[in-house]
Amino acid sequence: MKQFRVFGNPIAQSKSPFIHQQFAVQSALMMNYESELVELEQFDIAVKKLIANEGKGANVTAPFKEQAFALCDELSERAKLAGAVNTLIFSNGLIYGDTTDGLGLVNDLLRHHVQLKASKILLLGAGGAAKGVVQSLLEQFPQSLTIANRTLSKAETIAEQYPNADVSAITFEDTEHLVFDIIINATSAGLSGASLSISDRTIKSAHTCYDMVYGKEPTAFLKQAKLLCVDNIIDGLGMLVGQAAESFYLWNNIRPDVEPVLMSLRAELNQ
Ligand code: NDP
Repeated sequence: MKQFRVFGNPIAQSKSPFIHQQFAVQSALMMNYESELVELEQFDIAVKKLIANEGKGANVTAPFKEQAFALCDELSERAKLAGAVNTLIFSNGLIYGDTTDGLGLVNDLLRHHVQLKASKILLLGAGGAAKGVVQSLLEQFPQSLTIANRTLSKAETIAEQYPNADVSAITFEDTEHLVFDIIINATSAGLSGASLSISDRTIKSAHTCYDMVYGKEPTAFLKQAKLLCVDNIIDGLGMLVGQAAESFYLWNNIRPDVEPVLMSLRAELNQ
């Protein structure tokens, strides 16, 4: 049976085994997908062990996305720009790396009928998640993409990677008098319940507020957007399933249906 893993540390919380098992059932494919806790210094060894044991591919989550990038023999353009990979494909003795977070996000926004073309997008955060979605967002031809981050230099570094697009870097305070169509929170602030200093006025200007973080309760950012009656308020559960669907496609050349899997996960989350 084809072997797949998701490597991370911690990993017990990962929903990827459930998601891929559901995709496999939908597609009548025999595949074994398991999570594997990897010690911090053992990532390369874990990958090589999987390859030796009939491994066909793997997902990679924190803190190994950069190490996975370094291990690859070949990389997609998206992965090169992101400097990280979340999907490994083992083929003909080579390790190929890609990042599917950006497509997961874009497909989720499109699924919610959010128009990206010609939109003014504000991306909050400049960590791995933000970096990984910029190229996919730009492929939808937005009017502009503004990256705001607590540490401005990190946003500037990302913006400099795209000299031919309207990508700029600002601080959270700079957002005060600006208006946007779509605001995407790619910071990890939602995990700790911390709120971001984005003004009500700026949030109100948007028709869509998206938070990559998901949970039983909406994040502080999404609560703020809800109070301000923003039209579309979306959390990152669809992005999670969407990025998994893209990995599944890369491995099996089959596009799974994300809807039933998303519904199961949402029901589980709300229990
Ligand atoms: P990183 O650690 O690489 O980056 C964290 C980012 O959050 C940085 O921009 C950091 O700013 C900012 N930040 C953290 N705390 C605060 C705060 N209190 N106020 C303002 N800014 C803050 O994490 P990732 O980029 O890998 O992940 C970000 C989030 O996205 C995570 O919560 C992760 O779970 C989620 N995610 C969701 C996915 C999905 O499929 N739904 C996929 C990938 C990620 P600074 O640079 O100044 O430190």
